[in-house]
Amino acid sequence: MSTYDDREKCHFYYKIGACRHGDRCSKKHTRPIRSRTIIVPNMYRKPALNGKSDLQFDFDAFYEDVYMEASRFGEVQSMVVCENRNDHLNGNVYIMFSNAQEAQGARDSFNTRWYNERPLYCDLSHVSDFREAICRKHDMRSCERGDECNFMHVQRPTLQLLKDLEKAQWKRYRMQ
Ligand SMILES: [Zn+2]
Ligand SMILES: [Zn+2]
Repeated sequence: MSTYDDREKCHFYYKIGACRHGDRCSKKHTRPIRSRTIIVPNMYRKPALNGKSDLQFDFDAFYEDVYMEASRFGEVQSMVVCENRNDHLNGNVYIMFSNAQEAQGARDSFNTRWYNERPLYCDLSHVSDFREAICRKHDMRSCERGDECNFMHVQRPTLQLLKDLEKAQWKRYRMQ
């Protein structure tokens, strides 16, 4: 019996790190053995809207929390959170480190952790270029595929927060 899998690679699984067909996809999904990117599927959950909720404040707190935790394992080069409503992308967190060893350390640790009363599940991801994965139209609020879009609809942290996080990390990793 041959174990060689000659199916075509699934574009979504390799470029976006998640495919709406999941394990039932007819195309090939082979998990990476080495990568500098990790994925935590469905990690961020938007708070229910009520008079008191400040969505950006809630998101910034989440972003800072996860970024700081990740940067204990290495230099975070990008951190992307999706706000698509479809199950395979909703709340996905992707973190790209400067090398595969850092990503592996973060993955191993995240897999032992809980967040918001749920155990985290974290894996390595093939995503290596967010420019190919992100829906640009969403950034301009003009994606006609809407919540069902299969490209990343990125939820952005406040620009100042991102600058502060990058600066803190830069001090930590570049000024030693
Ligand atoms: Zn697929
Ligand atoms: Zn889109």
